[in-house]
Amino acid sequence: MREPPRPRFQPDLVRGGDRQALNAAFTLQAKEFDLAFRCPECAYRTAAGQCTVGWPNEALMAEPLEVIGADLIPAFCKAFEPDAP
Ligand code: SF4
Repeated sequence: MREPPRPRFQPDLVRGGDRQALNAAFTLQAKEFDLAFRCPECAYRTAAGQCTVGWPNEALMAEPLEVIGADLIPAFCKAFEPDAP
C-alpha cells in the first residue's frame, strides 16, 4: 500500500518519528549551537510578541519550544531576521 502524499517541505527526519523525541532532540541541538530562529530573537516581532509582517507565529513563540507540531510539520519562518546584537 502506498503512503499518502506529504507536503514537499516535510523532511524525511520527521516521517514516522516520535514527535516528543524529535522535539527534545531539536531543543538540545538548538541550545548547543545557539540557534536563533524564533520570534523572540527576530527583528520583526513587536514588544508584545506579534509579527509585524503578519505571519501566524504562535508556534514560534510557544514555550516550551515545539518545532514539530501535531501535524508533524516543522515550524520555521523564512522571513526571520535576527535582532541587532
Ligand atoms: S518574521 Fe517570522 S520569526 Fe519574525 S516575528 Fe514574524 S513569524 Fe516570527
